[in-house]
Amino acid sequence: MIKENLKNIQLTLPENVTLVAVSKTKPVEDLQEAYNAGQRIFGENKIQEMVDKYNVLPKDIQWHMIGHLQSNKVKYMAHFVDLIHGVDKLKTLKVINKEAKKHDRIINCLLQAKIAKEDTKFGLSFNEITTILHSDEFAELNNINIVGLMGMATFTEHANQLKDEFTALKNLFEDLKNKVNTENCNLNVLSMGMSGDYKIAIENGSTMIRVGSAIFGHRNYNQ
Ligand SMILES: *Cc1c(COP(=O)(O)O)cnc(C)c1O
Repeated sequence: MIKENLKNIQLTLPENVTLVAVSKTKPVEDLQEAYNAGQRIFGENKIQEMVDKYNVLPKDIQWHMIGHLQSNKVKYMAHFVDLIHGVDKLKTLKVINKEAKKHDRIINCLLQAKIAKEDTKFGLSFNEITTILHSDEFAELNNINIVGLMGMATFTEHANQLKDEFTALKNLFEDLKNKVNTENCNLNVLSMGMSGDYKIAIENGSTMIRVGSAIFGHRNYNQ
């Protein structure tokens, strides 16, 4: 099933769109099955769970942290994480920078923007993102690289609302691309779209989708 789901999604993706297989709560056997089908990028939302899976699975997997970050746990993934999607504080960037430095690495990050109308979602306002990227404090962080932006749309079936939310982020992305010119900011990734809305996200400029249940099936959080 996992193999077929992956193939079916891959077939519909434009060449410039990267698929992150969101494997949170799923057992390593499921990840191994996706790996055997060719998938190399996996997304997790809890640091400890990602570390546990990293330790037992093949080392050519690229691990993406897509969840909300607790600063005190960044150190556990600093030696291997490939991309951190959910950064929504300058303070967190500083922690990531510090931990990356210890491992002599540069860690790629996305800033998470608030695009949903619901107020339960994490994220920075567009103004806050612009302010961070233009700040002197940010320019001094040599061990991180902001490679793009991430957003989660409202949980809704209304295609027009999804389109509006994705388009707003795409516009900010294009605007900042032209305006920010520091060595630690190279915007080329726009992470938006999940199982329920990735098609609309791609139509509106996404270059990276984070898909879980459409690949691995529904999650059971009570296990
Ligand atoms: C869980 C999660 C996803 C994947 O959700 P699905 O609806 O299962 O595709 C994508 N992005 C984030 C940030 C998530 O937490």
